[in-house]
Amino acid sequence: MAATKRRELDLSDFPPGTVTEYTTLVCLACIFDIFTRQLGLAPRTAFSEVKRHAPTIEELTSRQAMRPYFDSDENNPHCPYCGSARRWLARFDTYCIEGSKTTDAARRVLIKKLPKADDQFLVIEKKSDSRAVFFDWLDTLGRNLELNDESWLRDATRMYLERRDRKTNWDEVFEDLRAVRRSSRLTEGWERDGGRLFLAPQLYSEALLIQYLISRSHAHGGLTLEGRLTLMDLIRRLRYSGYLDELGITEREPGEVFERLIDHLASTHEWSGLRVAANRGSDRVTAAKKKVRTGSGSDRVGNKKKSSKSRKGKSAPPEPESALTESVKLHYVVDRRDFLEKVKSVYASYAG
Ligand SMILES: [Zn+2]
Repeated sequence: MAATKRRELDLSDFPPGTVTEYTTLVCLACIFDIFTRQLGLAPRTAFSEVKRHAPTIEELTSRQAMRPYFDSDENNPHCPYCGSARRWLARFDTYCIEGSKTTDAARRVLIKKLPKADDQFLVIEKKSDSRAVFFDWLDTLGRNLELNDESWLRDATRMYLERRDRKTNWDEVFEDLRAVRRSSRLTEGWERDGGRLFLAPQLYSEALLIQYLISRSHAHGGLTLEGRLTLMDLIRRLRYSGYLDELGITEREPGEVFERLIDHLASTHEWSGLRVAANRGSDRVTAAKKKVRTGSGSDRVGNKKKSSKSRKGKSAPPEPESALTESVKLHYVVDRRDFLEKVKSVYASYAG
């Protein structure tokens, strides 16, 4: 993710954690080579073909780029395939916007403002689901954190809180913060006391889970605010603290518990939605689930009624969450401006 001298899009209207940026370089020498040598096109024809080139989302966002694409953090990168220098290299910036009620308006405004001529920008929609989005988010987060420095535990907590509650100004909450602790008093939300941030048990449990998930691949178990934990340790703690009960997770097998926890963490509802549901006691998890499952027009009264009716007679536990994975629409905005300019200048030197 090298960010040098780019013409940034203004993304300030998007809540934190809803837009992921990808940068990939493409070698025009490699592309021209393919068109002129391998396919035998004349330079002019090759030029117009290349200009139309629209990379796939996979090519633009993959962690392991393939020829003619590559990633580089260097200030003066060279093509790893043919050694070409900078003037042959073009950059694609790709922005992936998570579709949701909190981003829809900002996205429409952004897209409306983009220049239309010459396909300088591409807008591509892709269907995904809450789990895939969640793991992408975790992956990006893990790459951006300095895992050798323990302050990452706090940063990861904060990123999770930002994802869960997009309305709070977390910059302010985390300013000059020294520690994050589990609250023995709060039943929901958080509280700042001096240099310490107290999280309600549920939130605290989720912060531990996120920390575990980020660091588990780096060593045995995962590192959390409670020290290094194996999955078994973690699940034991979550069970003991009442967190699993609260979510209605009755499975005993660690793998199954883990799957249920992931579904819960990945779900796209925010706290505000959860809090309303919480007032209705054991409907909590089900209500939240219903809400997301029915998509954007989810708050219709009819749905809610139906949901409680179908559960009548069954006094908890909540229904299994196996179908909890929600569909999520991803909106990719691909910035082709640098590419178009470089193609033009490269062609000029090629043809001249
Ligand atoms: Zn090359």
